[in-house]
Amino acid sequence: MNSQSIAPCGLNCALCWGFQRSKKTCSGCNSSGAKTHYCTVCRIKTCPEKNGNDRLLCSECPRYPCKRLKDLDKRYRFKYGESAIENFRSIAEIGLSAFVAAEEIKWRCPQCGNLVCVHREKCLTCGEANPHFPPNPGKPQRGTNK
Ligand SMILES: [Zn+2]
Repeated sequence: MNSQSIAPCGLNCALCWGFQRSKKTCSGCNSSGAKTHYCTVCRIKTCPEKNGNDRLLCSECPRYPCKRLKDLDKRYRFKYGESAIENFRSIAEIGLSAFVAAEEIKWRCPQCGNLVCVHREKCLTCGEANPHFPPNPGKPQRGTNK
């Protein structure tokens, strides 16, 4: 993991199954190599506001936070307990390299020490529970569904 692991949207490519798998590995949003399907069609990645600067972080855009980014953030908070906007807040506070260093520690599997995947309930290496995964992904909490 390094500063290039942080995609323009603020999410960490190194925490994705596409990046972690050994076959058809995704090279990450800041690389020109192969990508997962989701990332080739991403509207943030190809946002015209970037004016040709592919690696521009959304937080550096005059329109930040735009609806597109807020929608992504909402989806990730709900499904995965992860927030692009929170990531940008940390980056603004402590800087990109310190943020990446903290991510390296935060996302280590407590069992095997490999990075867990933000999208998966269990570590892809050893099957240990991902400690950051929300308890009821994609489902409303019981009693709050009015
Ligand atoms: Zn593990």
